[in-house]
Amino acid sequence: MFKIVVCIKQVPDTADIKWTENNTIQREGVESIINPFDTYALETALRLKDLDENVKISVITMGPNQASEILKKAIAMGADEAFLISDRKFAGSDTLATSKTLSAIIREKIPDFNLIICGQFATDGDTAQTGPAIAQHLGLAQVTYVSEIVQKTSEFLLVKKEVEDGIETLKVILPCVLCVQKGYYEPRKALINGYIKSQLTQIPILTFEDTKLNVDQLGLKGSPTYVSAAFRPKQKTSGELINKENSLEYAKFLDDKIKEFANE
Ligand code: FAD
Repeated sequence: MFKIVVCIKQVPDTADIKWTENNTIQREGVESIINPFDTYALETALRLKDLDENVKISVITMGPNQASEILKKAIAMGADEAFLISDRKFAGSDTLATSKTLSAIIREKIPDFNLIICGQFATDGDTAQTGPAIAQHLGLAQVTYVSEIVQKTSEFLLVKKEVEDGIETLKVILPCVLCVQKGYYEPRKALINGYIKSQLTQIPILTFEDTKLNVDQLGLKGSPTYVSAAFRPKQKTSGELINKENSLEYAKFLDDKIKEFANE
């Protein structure tokens, strides 16, 4: 069996992000979706499963109870099993504590994994730290900005990674962590059978005890990052659309504007 763990995160489905009094994003009671990059992470795993029936996909998320909804969606899309990691003791986790918790659960519950796939970043926290930090905690190789897996063997993967001025093809020894970005393909839609399966699937809830970690390594206590302030950038006024007959008129317009600014 080739075991893939896909880490998915629930993010607010709204541009209207709400903040708690501790300057963290308010997640409970807000409409949520799977982080868009994580749907590509799952699609990457599902494509390997399409080619090899010995692939098993486990999806995990750390979040409040309502995060089980995105796990059900992942099951509906084709994942084999899912775990919700949820405990009040995880509240206030920064990326260090989050990645430690995810790594500990993978180590304890899916120790014989071959591959971990994360999204490149989450659209709310937007740090892109969690995947690389999981690789560090588990002592694994990692490739970020992955757009495609081109070959899978039991020992290694060949992956395409986007770099500033092109695409690199890298060979990476398994087990490893991949952080994927939006690929050359769209994530599949769940079919009716998938939805039925997801409704019949029980999602186990894993708690602090399952991590086998010290309580000081988790949640707010295990989080050295502190959000000292959070604010919305000032709204910029929309630009002025200029329509002139010819370049001379544009030049005159600009000249007048510059003089106007200079005199302000
Ligand atoms: P990125 O690192 O950008 O995500 C990359 C990938 O990692 C994702 O695509 C996904 O594959 C994976 N991933 C990320 N997060 C998860 C997850 N939770 N489960 C599964 N896979 C995941 N968040 C809270 O929910 N509650 C809090 O109380 C809270 N308090 C915080 C306090 C501080 C001081 C800070 C700095 C952050 C806090 N956060 C809290 C935010 C939380 O730490 C981050 O959202 C989380 O660590 C992931 O980081 P990110 O959003 O930047 O994801």
